Amino acid sequence: MTKPLYMYYNENTIVFLNGKFIRAKNANSSLYGQTLHYGNGVFEGIRSYNTSIGVKIFKAKEHFERLLYSAKKMHIKLNYSSDELTKITYQVLKKNNLGDAYIRPLVYLGANMSLTPTDEANLFISAWEWGKYLGDKQLNIMVSSFQRPNPKSCHVDAKVSGHYTNSILATTEAKQKGFDEALMLDMNGFVAEGPGANFFFEKNGILFTPPLGNILPGITRATIIELAGNLNIEVTERFFKPSELITADGAFFTGTAAEVAGINSVDGVKFKVKWKKTKGFLLANEYRKKVSFSG
Ligand code: PMP
Repeated sequence: MTKPLYMYYNENTIVFLNGKFIRAKNANSSLYGQTLHYGNGVFEGIRSYNTSIGVKIFKAKEHFERLLYSAKKMHIKLNYSSDELTKITYQVLKKNNLGDAYIRPLVYLGANMSLTPTDEANLFISAWEWGKYLGDKQLNIMVSSFQRPNPKSCHVDAKVSGHYTNSILATTEAKQKGFDEALMLDMNGFVAEGPGANFFFEKNGILFTPPLGNILPGITRATIIELAGNLNIEVTERFFKPSELITADGAFFTGTAAEVAGINSVDGVKFKVKWKKTKGFLLANEYRKKVSFSG
């Protein structure tokens, strides 16, 4: 469903655009830009939290380093360091009086209708209040008819605007069929990830998640693996087919926007163990603690 415009900004919202802090309502871009026509732009999705030690951007360095990596992979020249990007973002939060916020940096290119990147690279950073992307209830998901892009067709480990047409197709298909979200396979038929989140399943107290290679290397995924380690919960990174999920005890998505989102069923088959009794639920609580106490 289309969200109201003012979900993202209002009359007073300040954004960062190419070196200046300006009102969102006055921020414009060209209709001839390569990002709009062909999707060659890169972005991030980051959260800040009101923590016990003030407003903290969670994993700022990891997110901005991934942004720089994505830009490099797409031959986009972005003249900012991860530290500079972090400082600018803290200013955006401060100017908008935001604590718990979702932050969206976007690097978009200049006018060019041919198939080479432009030297012009624009940096836009905005932030707004945004609840848990997939909500709080456990999700009913379906295995998508759309695969994740083959890593030989693009840099799947980069967060590129154009890649999200694949995600939009999968989520739209799932919603049209009455599901909450999609689960996408890789080109070999193994489970890869959700359209905007990584995937874990649980069996006999062990967590399983697809290895890096055909997925976006989620920062939340890495955090969950680390938190599981602290709690002595075993995590195995390996390929698996959706048929393995039939005998699983539980599953969840991880992502900056979604945080840790419990899954109720896949293709109508419910997981055996109640969400609140799973390791996933335990980790969801640990994640919440981690973001709200230390950032
Ligand atoms: N996979 C995809 C396709 C995504 O869009 C996201 C969200 N960035 C993730 C996984 C999760 O990544 P992260 O935990 O870094 O937000």
